[in-house]
Amino acid sequence: MIKELALGIDIGGTNIVCGLVDKKGNLIAEGSCSMADFDTPEEMMVSISEKFHEMKSNLKTNQKIVGIGIGAPNGNFFNGCIENAPNLKWKGKIPLVKLFKKNFKLPVYLTNDANAAALGEMIYGGAKKMKDFIVITIGTGLGSGIVANGKLIYGHDGLAGELGHTIYQPGGRKCGCGRLGCLETYVSSSGLIKTTKELLEKNNTKSLLRKLKPNEIISINIQAAAIKGDKLAINAYEITGAILGQKLADAVAVTSPEAIFLFGGISRSGNLLIKPAKKALEENLLSVYKNKVKILQSELLDKNAAVLGAAAMVWCEK
Ligand SMILES: [Zn+2]
Repeated sequence: MIKELALGIDIGGTNIVCGLVDKKGNLIAEGSCSMADFDTPEEMMVSISEKFHEMKSNLKTNQKIVGIGIGAPNGNFFNGCIENAPNLKWKGKIPLVKLFKKNFKLPVYLTNDANAAALGEMIYGGAKKMKDFIVITIGTGLGSGIVANGKLIYGHDGLAGELGHTIYQPGGRKCGCGRLGCLETYVSSSGLIKTTKELLEKNNTKSLLRKLKPNEIISINIQAAAIKGDKLAINAYEITGAILGQKLADAVAVTSPEAIFLFGGISRSGNLLIKPAKKALEENLLSVYKNKVKILQSELLDKNAAVLGAAAMVWCEK
C-alpha cells in the first residue's frame, strides 16, 4: 500500500525548517537552512528543492509525496502570497505558492504560522476530537489560529485570527504593527520582559533579577527566578497571564471554543502563565460561558509543531 507523505515547511525570520510527515504525524526526514543565506525567495526555494530531492531519493518504494504545506508569517491561504511580513527581510507581496508550484509540480498550500499550528493541533495534537478551539502561539509576538465547526477561520481575505493585534490598552505599548497597546506587546516573551523591567524600576521588591544586567532580563531567566519563588518574577507572570485571560474571555464570546491551547515561548512555563490566565478568563467571561472553556498546553510542545502543522494543511485541503 502506498504511504502518502506531505512536505511541511516552516518559514521563520531566522530559520527555515522542512520535513516529510506522514498522516500520523511521524517525521520521516527533516532539514533546515538559514534565512541569512538567501537574498531572494527564489534562492530559498532552490535550497528547499535540493533538500526535497535528497529526502525523496531516500524514500521507500511505497512512500509518495503528495503535497506541500507552508507556514509563514503573514502567509495568506487564499492568494498564496506572503503579505508584508514585518519579521521577514522580503517586503511587499511574495507569490510563494506560485513559485513553489512551478518548481515542484505538486499541490502547494500556504497559511500563517499560527493557523498551521492550529491545524497541527487538530490533526496530530490535543484537539483531535474537537471542532471548536483556538490555538495561541506565543513567541516574540502572539499569533492565533481559530477553528470553528471543524474549519479554520480564514475570513473573507484569508487573514482572520489576529488576536495578538487586538487592543488591550488604548494608547499603550508601541507594537510592531505601528499601533499602540496591542495584546502581543503585553503577552509575548518581549511583553513579559518589558513588564518585568517595569516592575524592577517601579518598586524596591527584592529580586534575584536585580543581580542581572538589563540584557540578561530574558524570559528564560525570568522563568528560572519564578520557579525559585522570586516574588517579582512571579508577579510579572501573573500580570501577563491576567491580561491573556482577560482578552481570551473576549475571544470566547466570539466563537465559544471548547478549549484554548497555548503553544511556544512563555507558554512553556506552564502554570506560571496558565494559572493566572485561567483565573482572569473566568472572572471576565459572560456567565453562560463560565467553567466551560479549558486552557491547555499544546500537545505538540516537544515536537516540531510548525512543520507538522504546515504538513497537516495537505491532509486538510487535499
Ligand atoms: Zn499590533
